[in-house]
Amino acid sequence: MPIKAAAIIGAGIAGLTAALALARHGIASDVFEQAEALTEVGAGLQISPNASRILDTLGVLEALRHVWLEPEAVHLVSGSSLRPVASIPCGNFARERWGAPYGAAHRATLQNALLDAVTSNALCRLHLGRHIDIRDKQALEQAAGREFDLVIGADGVWSKAHAMVPGAPSPLFSGNIAWRFSIAEAAAPAILNETSVTAFLGSSSHLVCYPIRENAAFNIVAIVSGSSTSRDWGAAGSKAQREQMLRGFSGWNSAILRLLENQEQASFWPLYEMKAGRWHNGRDTILIGDAAHAMMPFAAQGAAMAIEDAFELAGLLSARTPAEAFELYEKHRAPRIARLRQRAAFNQFAYHAGGPIRLARDLVLSLRPPQSLAADMDWIYGYRAIG
Ligand SMILES: Cc1cc2nc3c(=O)[nH]c(=O)nc-3n(C[C@H](O)[C@H](O)[C@H](O)COP(=O)(O)OP(=O)(O)OC[C@H]3O[C@@H](n4cnc5c(N)ncnc54)[C@H](O)[C@@H]3O)c2cc1C
Repeated sequence: MPIKAAAIIGAGIAGLTAALALARHGIASDVFEQAEALTEVGAGLQISPNASRILDTLGVLEALRHVWLEPEAVHLVSGSSLRPVASIPCGNFARERWGAPYGAAHRATLQNALLDAVTSNALCRLHLGRHIDIRDKQALEQAAGREFDLVIGADGVWSKAHAMVPGAPSPLFSGNIAWRFSIAEAAAPAILNETSVTAFLGSSSHLVCYPIRENAAFNIVAIVSGSSTSRDWGAAGSKAQREQMLRGFSGWNSAILRLLENQEQASFWPLYEMKAGRWHNGRDTILIGDAAHAMMPFAAQGAAMAIEDAFELAGLLSARTPAEAFELYEKHRAPRIARLRQRAAFNQFAYHAGGPIRLARDLVLSLRPPQSLAADMDWIYGYRAIG
């Protein structure tokens, strides 16, 4: 019997994409979101071609095109000398090589574009202010007053839907903190590139910066090791935590140090990774996005994976029972997620290298032409999701 209705827990990137992707196959959904309103949560996101291709299929890309920035390149630059280390071209090169654009926007811009599409789709119903903390599908059906063929847990790293999946993965503090802030273009120092993504690299820390066109500001993420295991995302860090962060950047170029010292409003994001575990209960409930596999942001692919998950799951559900679709989904998605985790771990090693390893890294990268560096990204950005 074809699937008619799904319950989705969480209206983040994964949950909203899932609602749209299911609707594309004629499957209705009720999306339960704990927040009373979807306000500006988070910061900037790079949206790579593997994800923008899906957003295009779902009719969401058009809304982003007018506001986001398509960076000319991703530059790797030494955080101490500001010497260029390597560059991967984006812009038209990305469209031609990977068949879809590479963009950068505020997370809220992407979420609002998805939200507009969801609220104007008759098959999607959004329920705000609904914190879901239940143990099985029946309990959710009782609370909602309607029946569902399946439940999709898209409620992020602190997922409550985990309780519905025996053996679900659990989050573990990575030992790294992301400090995020934005700086108005008008007040930005000249070292910040207005047309590209720049990753400044140092031993045991790095800083990524790119313009958010719709906010006329630069998005800045400084990642450094730290000891907090707080669950709060986006809280203001304490004075001691800020001092610890600055120590992680000692020896960096003075213009970057000044930038960090002056950011009283920087927010503090302890980074958690989801450990291995089951993504579904073999019957009627499945986890996607960060709820299944939150990963370190070193490959800038967490939201892209949430979008791929949602799209591919919906495609599999269109012609199968939930149990069959879940099995195929896990077989198909697990190797890709594992490979991405390895890439993120490799990037962490390479970005945060010091001493002789850093010298070797810089030499190897400087000898590789942009085309060859781009080829390393083909399996990520050139991926054609099935759906
Ligand atoms: C510093 C940093 C930089 C990043 N940069 C990038 C990047 O450049 N590109 C990229 O692709 N990814 C990036 N990511 C990763 C990306 O932000 C996440 O992977 C992505 O947002 C996960 O989306 P999600 O929908 O799975 O979860 P979330 O965005 O966490 O959404 C979960 C939703 O569920 C709701 N919810 C939670 N619990 C409940 C409940 N019990 N009941 C009802 N609702 C609930 C929440 O309110 C929220 O709306 C970055 C992450 C970090 C930390």
